Amino acid sequence: MTIRDAYDVAVVGAGPAGLAAATLAARAGLATVLFDEQPAAGGQIYRAAGITPLRAGSVLGDDYWRGRGLIEAFAASGAQHVPGATVWSLSREREIGVTHGGAARIVRATRVILATGAIERPFPIPGWTMPGVMTVGAAQILLKTAGLKPDGKVWIERKGGSWSPEEEASFKRPTIEMFERQSHPLYASARLWDDGIIDPRRSREALALSLSATLNAPIPPTRFGLFRM
Ligand SMILES: Cc1cc2nc3c(=O)[nH]c(=O)nc-3n(C[C@H](O)[C@H](O)[C@H](O)COP(=O)(O)OP(=O)(O)OC[C@H]3O[C@@H](n4cnc5c(N)ncnc54)[C@H](O)[C@@H]3O)c2cc1C
Repeated sequence: MTIRDAYDVAVVGAGPAGLAAATLAARAGLATVLFDEQPAAGGQIYRAAGITPLRAGSVLGDDYWRGRGLIEAFAASGAQHVPGATVWSLSREREIGVTHGGAARIVRATRVILATGAIERPFPIPGWTMPGVMTVGAAQILLKTAGLKPDGKVWIERKGGSWSPEEEASFKRPTIEMFERQSHPLYASARLWDDGIIDPRRSREALALSLSATLNAPIPPTRFGLFRM
């Protein structure tokens, strides 16, 4: 992809706002470039709408698929799309610092439209770094770009509103119970997550129990004399 040194219009952000602006500018005959750091157009709300592997259309609702129309109109407009491009500076002279394909460069534009949209602002809660804990935005990105959703039971915690102490306790109870049950050493050992912990004073007992358990199964003929584990 050849990025020119100068354009009539440079748009930053390929969400609905940036796509619409770039389409309009290109249709008006202006040399237009659209920089976006994502690999595909769509921004947050229409993320990956043109390339998502999701087949069940109803999962994200009709609104999501309207994004495809915007992306197609943009693709047909003649504007240049530069995905995977991060804009890191903009001077008063409308010189745009952009990194693309591992190289940084300066591009000039007569007009610059910033359509960099929204970002999610996660707030820390106890346990937010634990495996399996993610923000709703991350869950959406997973769904839209890879067609994946978290496995098993999903709890959603949100900020705002109010609830009584009883409601809070009832909301947290299943998580606390699950945590207590699953953090027991035997739970992890039983699932081969570790090598097990045996009190040294009871190691002979555990060995005898293991040998006794093996005797419950028929012993197949072997050709080795001694087997060491
Ligand atoms: C995590 C998340 C989930 C959301 N979910 C919903 C929802 O379910 N329903 C709903 O109605 N609204 C949702 N919103 C709000 C909705 O996404 C926005 O209102 C809408 O996407 C804004 O469109 P936009 O074109 O202004 O910007 P965006 O869609 O945010 O697009 C901006 C684009 O600019 C790019 N960009 C930003 N900075 C740079 C830079 N420096 N260089 C290059 N590219 C850059 C971004 O990667 C992005 O692709 C969500 C927002 C977020 C953050």
